[in-house]
Amino acid sequence: MVTSHPVSKVVVVGGGIFGVSTAVHLARLGIETILVNDGPLAKGASGRSLSWLNSARKRSAEYHRLRMIGIDRYRTLSARYPDAAWLRFDGGLTWDADDASNQIADVFAHEKDLGYDAQHLTAAAIAAVTPGVAAGAVTPQGAIFNPGEGWVDLPSLIDALIAEFVERGGRLVTDAGRATVTVVDGRATGATTTSGIDFPADAVLLATGSDVPRMVAATGHHIEDGTPIALLVRTKPVDLALRAVLNTPRVAIRPTPDGALALDSAWSEEEVIINADGTYGVKGSTIDGLLEQAAKVLEGHPKLELESYGVGPKPIPGDGEPVFGLLKDIQGYYVAFSHSGATLGLIAGELIADEIATGREHPLLAKFRPSRFA
Ligand SMILES: Cc1cc2nc3c(=O)[nH]c(=O)nc-3n(C[C@H](O)[C@H](O)[C@H](O)COP(=O)(O)OP(=O)(O)OC[C@H]3O[C@@H](n4cnc5c(N)ncnc54)[C@H](O)[C@@H]3O)c2cc1C
Repeated sequence: MVTSHPVSKVVVVGGGIFGVSTAVHLARLGIETILVNDGPLAKGASGRSLSWLNSARKRSAEYHRLRMIGIDRYRTLSARYPDAAWLRFDGGLTWDADDASNQIADVFAHEKDLGYDAQHLTAAAIAAVTPGVAAGAVTPQGAIFNPGEGWVDLPSLIDALIAEFVERGGRLVTDAGRATVTVVDGRATGATTTSGIDFPADAVLLATGSDVPRMVAATGHHIEDGTPIALLVRTKPVDLALRAVLNTPRVAIRPTPDGALALDSAWSEEEVIINADGTYGVKGSTIDGLLEQAAKVLEGHPKLELESYGVGPKPIPGDGEPVFGLLKDIQGYYVAFSHSGATLGLIAGELIADEIATGREHPLLAKFRPSRFA
């Protein structure tokens, strides 16, 4: 489907990585762009993400390809900011539990088949490849080291992209209250904030993270939603040799720009308390448990102390794959809703901006259309 063109003015609603990345790519294409966010930037999932850059394990071929191209864009960015403390390619190390669920051999074979850079290591071989890991914590099936993986600090990336956006003449409106997309006669005509400010445009990108399914439901469109409530724990800075992102049975760990660690896991996510009024609670025992699990897999078992934590929705479509592009039957109404928004952030913004600017559906996004849930 092709939207009516030319598009000269676009409103992006949502100041997470998808909104910001698309806005800067639109500005690069010379399109007048306004980015409207309800609060400060990066206060949604992008502000409390593990943000491991990867395409590890198994998924559809199309999704793997998009992630690999996403990582490529980060490599280009990394060449531009070689000293950035917020973007590192120091690899990823993963191992599974020592039980019937262990998939390390199978995953390694799959990754080799794809040409995804992978090394299957015994516990004893890890130290020579990547530092800072407690060899005793690694299960007998061994670990996979993926040298091409990395991590990004999304708030820092968002700062860098927004600086370019504003420099290129983009208009940034933060703390605007909740905006809704206005639709008149089957086409998006802009956005309106709760305070009554209108932002007219030829096209709109809805990039409000976990709010996307609820907001498009107002237009009669259905996007299946599998969003859980997630927890990210940040430690105080700690002197460690760890460089890689670790994905272990009881904790995932990544370094941060200030020498601390970000931690999450599936079990701690399940322990988040969802209150009847829509607020979230986190038990002290969950945080202590995550800090303990992290200490167990790090060399020297350092004492880790809590700096802060973030809790809230982790946007995930019901079928796990991204949702990008035009809503069927509404001209100029684009959406971005996906997990792995760190890995996909740069490429998704680039391709969505291209679709908005040209009206041409990009083949790399063909499998990820919102209409698949119709
Ligand atoms: C704990 C955790 C771990 C993760 N780990 C990884 C990982 O290892 N690798 C990876 O690639 N990805 C990971 N992700 C996923 C990634 O962080 C997200 O996919 C990405 O941040 C989503 O970005 P977004 O722009 O869609 O949403 P958000 O960052 O949530 O941004 C949406 C923005 O829209 C604003 N907004 C909402 N409603 C409105 C409205 N009505 N009007 C105006 N503004 C509005 C919000 O305030 C927010 O600023 C993780 C996420 C979490 C939470």
